[in-house]
Amino acid sequence: MLRWSARLARLQQLLFPVYRFDRESKWQPETTTVKKQRQQPESALRCAFCNYIITSKNRAISVDGKHVHICTNPMGVTFEIALYQQADCVEHGIATTEHTWFSDCAWQLALCSNCKSHLGWRFTCADSDSFYGLIRAHLVEL
Ligand SMILES: [Zn+2]
Repeated sequence: MLRWSARLARLQQLLFPVYRFDRESKWQPETTTVKKQRQQPESALRCAFCNYIITSKNRAISVDGKHVHICTNPMGVTFEIALYQQADCVEHGIATTEHTWFSDCAWQLALCSNCKSHLGWRFTCADSDSFYGLIRAHLVEL
């Protein structure tokens, strides 16, 4: 049988999973589930595999007039991707313009910097601008 305070804390975790109730009765950020990150506003978008904060809605951009693009790779796999100026991803592979979805932009795989799941692609363009195209199904809002 849990003490009532432990049960209350558990209930608060269920209701407010981002926060925990500490002994000093102050709301504190949850730090146990993912590696330490700076706090983000509620517009944060997280890795669907590990819950790590990847980007946020206020980093959304449009290219060719659209934020969301439907793209098909040479293998016939179609992705719904959304574009962001910045993302907390690590790049994998050598940048190439082969089969690129955005003219004059070379792509690399973009992996979650926490769990290394494939989240999308980083595009580096001829004008040295860069952005991320992230698979919408691989991001979650909390
Ligand atoms: Zn992840």
